[in-house]
Amino acid sequence: MSSQVQEYVESPDLPEQIGGTPAFSRPEGWTCSTPWKRAQQEIDTGGPINDAERMVRLSDGEGVHRCTWALKGRTLLAECDCRGYQFHGGWCAHVASLWWQWINGEIVVNHLDTGREYPTPPAWLELDAPAQKHVFEDLTPAETDAYLSVELTDAGVREWARHTDRSPGTVGNQLRSAKDTLYGGVER
Ligand SMILES: [Zn+2]
Repeated sequence: MSSQVQEYVESPDLPEQIGGTPAFSRPEGWTCSTPWKRAQQEIDTGGPINDAERMVRLSDGEGVHRCTWALKGRTLLAECDCRGYQFHGGWCAHVASLWWQWINGEIVVNHLDTGREYPTPPAWLELDAPAQKHVFEDLTPAETDAYLSVELTDAGVREWARHTDRSPGTVGNQLRSAKDTLYGGVER
């Protein structure tokens, strides 16, 4: 964490959010950057091409770009094939547009491990932690889902169970099993 960290501010329009909102940093001067302005002004007429990638076609007619845009572990895989992606430290106008669409509930993002679809950024998300994408490799999808959604957020077992229409016992078991695997059976 550096002094440049900006807290993510929840938009008042966000749909129901379980367990709080994620915190992460973006490049310095981000909010007045060209990519972020374009992301808010221009319409994206692209769409998903598979679970992990989308085509982004902004209304300024500058071309179509292929972006990786999916959740894995507790991070977001975000990449674009344009030159601006390298230049703007990973936040080109296309990636920025996807982020803008996501926080406004306009697109749904898949979690590659759990298959869960996220209509807004989840509370457990750590954007600055690409290494976090392999953390849950030894867990089943259900264990990963329970760990992310309950252990890493403010949500309790009961709240999450109700939200996903399962019994608290089931979620509790998945969470325990996840912790056993991750901590070798030793409680933190
Ligand atoms: Zn791009």
